[in-house]
Amino acid sequence: MHASPAAPAPHRRACVIGAGIVGAATAQALAERGWQVTLVDAHGHPGQGESLGNGAQLSYSYVEPLATPDALRALPRWLLSADSPLRWHPQPRWSHVRWLADFITACRWRTVRSTSESLLSLAAESRRTLHRWLAAVPGGAAETLHARPGKLVIYRKPEARAAVQRQLAWQRDWGCEQSLVEAAECRRLEPALAATGGGPIGFGVWTPSEEVIDAARLAALLARSSGATLRLGQPVQALLRDAGGRVCGARLATGETLEADTVVLAAGPGTVALMRPLGGQPPIEPIKGYSVTLPIVDAAAAPRASITDNGRKLVHARLGDTLRVAGFAELRGMNRAMDHRRIEALCQAVRETFPGACRFDDPQPWTGLRPATPSGRPQVGPTRWPGLWLNAGHGALGLTLSCGSATLLADLMDGRQPALPSRPFAVTA
Ligand SMILES: Cc1cc2nc3c(=O)[nH]c(=O)nc-3n(C[C@H](O)[C@H](O)[C@H](O)COP(=O)(O)OP(=O)(O)OC[C@H]3O[C@@H](n4cnc5c(N)ncnc54)[C@H](O)[C@@H]3O)c2cc1C
Repeated sequence: MHASPAAPAPHRRACVIGAGIVGAATAQALAERGWQVTLVDAHGHPGQGESLGNGAQLSYSYVEPLATPDALRALPRWLLSADSPLRWHPQPRWSHVRWLADFITACRWRTVRSTSESLLSLAAESRRTLHRWLAAVPGGAAETLHARPGKLVIYRKPEARAAVQRQLAWQRDWGCEQSLVEAAECRRLEPALAATGGGPIGFGVWTPSEEVIDAARLAALLARSSGATLRLGQPVQALLRDAGGRVCGARLATGETLEADTVVLAAGPGTVALMRPLGGQPPIEPIKGYSVTLPIVDAAAAPRASITDNGRKLVHARLGDTLRVAGFAELRGMNRAMDHRRIEALCQAVRETFPGACRFDDPQPWTGLRPATPSGRPQVGPTRWPGLWLNAGHGALGLTLSCGSATLLADLMDGRQPALPSRPFAVTA
């Protein structure tokens, strides 16, 4: 899938800052349109930031934002409970207070519906783009990192059924193929749940078309195949501006400067710090999550389908001969400290839900920061600073949306009509 453009036209040198899944996809989308791309990252390899150990879900039909009226109602209970999936440490920052206020404002069904519509369109574009790119990978190499095992969401409480049925009916109009299934059908679809399934199952939602992929490996594949000049292990210290105020490159921590006609910030939660000196404040807060990857010892006891436990708010994905389980949401700034009680809770959930499936003597714990906007919509497009574009703020769906938002951004940078409306993703920094 090498993007091998002819000599770039003048004014088509792009510097993409951030080689996470979003930046790597952006490099690929720009390179295939003929841009000469330099891809920069502080890490020594692509995909080592917030994409590294994520839940691996390509959740094309599960894009409902975090901000919903139900979430707002449940908030006090979650914040007061010791084993809650959600934690909040108030931050003495105006941007944090503003983010919370905007989050609360977004918790209206009207906003949830319009956000979900926009995200479903972006997710569909993302799926199309990813499939096109993977099909072009020579030698079937994509098959080792990508699978389509379907997704089963299990609900523990039967009372959720009416609301879930309404959601499915609405999503059907948007082309989502999903069905509500009874507990026995959940165990038939995923026999590994038959042992105990972690307790009673009320019902489930089955989406056969959902996929999984290893985000770090995909970022590495896209970064490489884009043909971009890779500047890895190079922290960017500041954006450069010319005498006219146009953003014209980046200064590395080494003092070296990288010149470009256009700079794209795809630095995940790091986007905020890079924009601060310009006076920009993208509404992005880091929401910390955890995952653990465990070696599978009994293939029959481990799930094949991607399983979301709605009660515990955890996702499980099988990646080769390992099982990854991810979850939790902590609003506590740029804090990446590992809380081993969270990792133990993830391991315990695997022991209960899939007994005998995994070994626990060599867990790979991970923590990452979801770069979240209040509404759940990423910011994709031009900023008010000439020469500076943004592709950031993908929250809990960065892997799912990355290829779609890369295509959207590249179309906008080329002055082409994008395949979907860009206005819902307009930059507000
Ligand atoms: C626990 C957890 C589970 C998740 N599960 C899923 C899932 O199942 N499906 C899904 O779709 N999404 C999931 N997500 C969300 C997803 O991982 C993120 O949305 C996504 O990784 C964001 O990608 P990104 O490229 O914007 O950020 P990153 O991957 O963090 O990339 C940004 C890059 O910018 C670089 N950078 C930052 N500042 C600088 C600088 N000054 N100089 C140079 N480089 C810089 C960083 O080093 C980093 O590599 C999950 C997140 C978490 C935390």
